Amino acid sequence: MSFIVAIDGPAGVGKGTIAKVVAEKFNLINIDTGATFRCVTLEMLNKNIKLDEEDKIIRLLTEINIEIKKVEGEDIVLLNGKDVSLEIRTPKVNEFVSPVSTLKIVRENLLHLQRKMSEGKNVIVEGRDIGTTVFPNADVKIYLDATPEERARRRVKQNIEKGIECSYEEVLESVKNRDKIDSSRETAPLKRAEDAIYIDCTKISLEELLNRVFEIIEEKM
Ligand code: C5P
Repeated sequence: MSFIVAIDGPAGVGKGTIAKVVAEKFNLINIDTGATFRCVTLEMLNKNIKLDEEDKIIRLLTEINIEIKKVEGEDIVLLNGKDVSLEIRTPKVNEFVSPVSTLKIVRENLLHLQRKMSEGKNVIVEGRDIGTTVFPNADVKIYLDATPEERARRRVKQNIEKGIECSYEEVLESVKNRDKIDSSRETAPLKRAEDAIYIDCTKISLEELLNRVFEIIEEKM
């Protein structure tokens, strides 16, 4: 029997931070589904494959190998065996990841991978469509939200910590653009599941948010 916590919400809301802490506290495996879409995007950029080149995308999807592994306490993302944890978070990937994520063939393929990564395990899975599509029967569903301005501010801080250069304006624009594409796409759009617990984290501290999330999970465990 596996236990599944689904965390959804828009770009930069803090899903990654929350998932990491929650995974440690409750001994869950942390699955960042955004990283899987980022890997496909990076590979398409590297191979110069365009959004309308379906045959090439299909071939790429059959060849690609994506893994998330824990190394010295950190989750690293391996694309065909290479550590791309930083490379998948560059502005270039940010720009193309949402358009790539609208492609049905990409979503279908990654849906299988995401379910496989979680099979038989106790997991916290973060993304946009986890509670609605990937794991509609998840034990816990949480939807995090915050204003685009607050999310951009948090993303800039996070990027600086990771050594990624960026400006607030650039990040805000990217966040708004991704929100628009992610919420309006036809297949599995960013949407709160009806039974998800909604938390607006614009004004609450990280500590308060974590306590809320801990309480919700403890109640269901
Ligand atoms: O979570 P992160 O910002 O890394 O996700 C990158 C992009 O991947 C999102 O903007 C979205 O377009 C796509 N994504 C998705 N469904 C998910 C997770 C991410 O479409 N479950």
